[in-house]
Amino acid sequence: KFIAFEGGEGCGKSTQARLLVDALAGRGIDAVLTREPGGTPGAEAIRRLLLDPPGEGWGAEAEALLFAAARADHVARLIRPEIAKGRWVISDRYVDSSRAYQGGAGGVGDEAVQALHAIGSGGLRPDLTILLTVDPETAVARTRARDGDAADAIGGRDAGYHRTVGETFARLAASEDERIAVIDGGAAPEVVHEAVWGAVSPITGI
Ligand code: C5P
Repeated sequence: KFIAFEGGEGCGKSTQARLLVDALAGRGIDAVLTREPGGTPGAEAIRRLLLDPPGEGWGAEAEALLFAAARADHVARLIRPEIAKGRWVISDRYVDSSRAYQGGAGGVGDEAVQALHAIGSGGLRPDLTILLTVDPETAVARTRARDGDAADAIGGRDAGYHRTVGETFARLAASEDERIAVIDGGAAPEVVHEAVWGAVSPITGI
């Protein structure tokens, strides 16, 4: 199985992805934890280019292509091979992040992002996507606590950009409600984990 965690800054994706991998291991399910952009040496190299861009930074289209290229490597070299070995793959972000950030907030559009994903990664979708939501104040407080004032690693984005990210995620979840489980990420990690487990347990078969 393939499960992706999605959401805006400070929603708790990384913590919840880790807690889920541990919970699956506790039930004898071998799961690999990975992340985007990244997960393979090539995709991690692209991550560094994205987070610390040379020169004046990437334009929206170049950024979308780099995310798609990183994902193509990640899908071909890690996600598909691990699934083929019978392991579960739990990814901290996947294509819905591209749809929300580059497609929605960046203005590249959903169709273009989906087309890049179809070319690069064969359109591979998760069995389940968990969208964690938090109110903007909590998001800002959490990212400040973690990263100081440089809360957005990709610089120059304002509150309006992140609002559009959140709205686009919500629209995707409403239109694909079978695949995407929306969970309030504002509570304590153990409480959020219980809700995550509630969404995942039906597909564990145990
Ligand atoms: O999730 P994480 O904090 O590792 O993401 C790293 C950075 O990449 C964040 O600043 C996030 O806003 C950005 N990002 C993005 N577009 C994506 C995925 C992540 O701008 N599709």
